[in-house]
Amino acid sequence: MATVNMIPLFVCMMRNNYVGKAVGVPFNTWNLYHRWAGRIVALESFAHMGAWTVNQVDHSNWAGVGVAIKGSLFFQMGLMAEIALFFLIFLSLSPLRHAHYQIFLATHQLCIAFFLVGAWLHCHIDELPHEKFVNIAIGIWAFERLHRLVTIYRKNVRLGKGWSLNSAEVKVAPAGEDAVRVSITMKKGWEFKPGQHAYLYVPRLSWTQSHPFSIAWSTTTPSLAEVQMQPLEVSSTTSLAHRNLLTSKPRTTIHFVISRRHGFTGRLYREAYKAAHSTDPEKVDIAPKRFLAFVEGPYCNEAHSFDSFSSLLFVAGGSGITHPLGYIRHLLVASSEGLVAARRIKLAWVVRNSRNISWVSDWLEELWRLDARRGMLEVEIYVTRPCSQYDTDMSGGPRVKWFAGRPQMEVILAGMLAPTRMRGGRGALAVNVCGPGSLADNVRAAVRERVDEARIEFSEESFTWS
Ligand SMILES: Cc1cc2nc3c(=O)[nH]c(=O)nc-3n(C[C@H](O)[C@H](O)[C@H](O)COP(=O)(O)OP(=O)(O)OC[C@H]3O[C@@H](n4cnc5c(N)ncnc54)[C@H](O)[C@@H]3O)c2cc1C
Repeated sequence: MATVNMIPLFVCMMRNNYVGKAVGVPFNTWNLYHRWAGRIVALESFAHMGAWTVNQVDHSNWAGVGVAIKGSLFFQMGLMAEIALFFLIFLSLSPLRHAHYQIFLATHQLCIAFFLVGAWLHCHIDELPHEKFVNIAIGIWAFERLHRLVTIYRKNVRLGKGWSLNSAEVKVAPAGEDAVRVSITMKKGWEFKPGQHAYLYVPRLSWTQSHPFSIAWSTTTPSLAEVQMQPLEVSSTTSLAHRNLLTSKPRTTIHFVISRRHGFTGRLYREAYKAAHSTDPEKVDIAPKRFLAFVEGPYCNEAHSFDSFSSLLFVAGGSGITHPLGYIRHLLVASSEGLVAARRIKLAWVVRNSRNISWVSDWLEELWRLDARRGMLEVEIYVTRPCSQYDTDMSGGPRVKWFAGRPQMEVILAGMLAPTRMRGGRGALAVNVCGPGSLADNVRAAVRERVDEARIEFSEESFTWS
């Protein structure tokens, strides 16, 4: 049974979850299944070893157990797999996993290697029929790794007369904001969809680590607007520019906002900050720095579509703003073409200080521009740690409302539901939250209170699966 269950165990752990894509179940859920499948495999293996040990002790005491293991590679490999499995379970315990995620990841992969070698040889030496299940699990793992390598190659390397790689432009946001903006112009096409995230590799910072980040925004050059704005005069320099624009392949730039944590993101921030300050120590608005970087993706939470909701409330905390921006842009564009039901969109963003708006201010302006005619979008910014030095300039657009302190989710939700009720309760409300756990808990609690009053769908992006 343990060898059979290795198959779902491996299927559930993959970044490219082929089954997940087919059935529209998000990665977080598969990750949960992966953990439980792992526990089941471990319990079954320990039961298998326990049964053999009891039998052996019964037959020839504990000394017989030692003799059997010493004299047989078959038993040694079985024991190696069991020990690796024990460490896999122990090192995956939540407090250890959360304390040092990278150490967890490295030891997890090492233990998996020992477990697979042990389990395979254990079955192979005695020609056990279970070997085929281990082979399938290894095959799934190897295939998915290959798929990932091919994806990285396809998205980041361009072969032609010469060959070139991606490089990321890393910009540090103004001092005290603790976030960097990373922009990567892709060598190959990238069809941006809301809810996508991608893994970022920056070899200068680490050759082994890759970290997931939501794609906050995407821009394409030349844009359709740029092409249309070029006059169509024959034999002039502008017509040459027009031809160049028409013939040049559109290039997509994807943008991330990455807040500083302790590991990779901390180093990224420090590198960008150092580079910026060495360029011009006097300058506050900081120069970009280029790194070689690779992107793996896109990965997407297939389950989320907000197209059929008439009212939408997006709540974001800190860098969680990266998640709703793409959805809001999509809804505004699609709404102008009559393709979605959205009539009212509210973004409530909780930030530490008002200058954090600079992370995304140009994208907010773009949203206002898209919404100019319809006036569907409202933005509320909640500043939890107002600081007089920074928080004097609370701009951000004509329809941004500023508040000091944390949002009262019950009040916001009541405000969203009132017009829906006035329309005869026909519209459904989508509530999506992306931010720290405490913020998500507050939003969930407020939704639960009102879930009987209207059609509300709650969804959450936690930026973690560890
Ligand atoms: C789908 C998704 C989208 C995300 N989008 C954004 C975003 O747009 N902006 C942003 O600032 N952050 C985002 N994050 C969070 C970001 O991935 C982590 O903050 C980052 O990996 C931390 O790296 P670190 O080495 O500095 O972390 P550490 O300080 O070492 O660890 C902090 C925590 O980050 C998590 N973490 C660390 N490494 C990884 C990893 N390789 N994979 C998954 N989680 C990890 C762990 O929970 C860990 O406890 C996203 C996370 C996910 C899962």
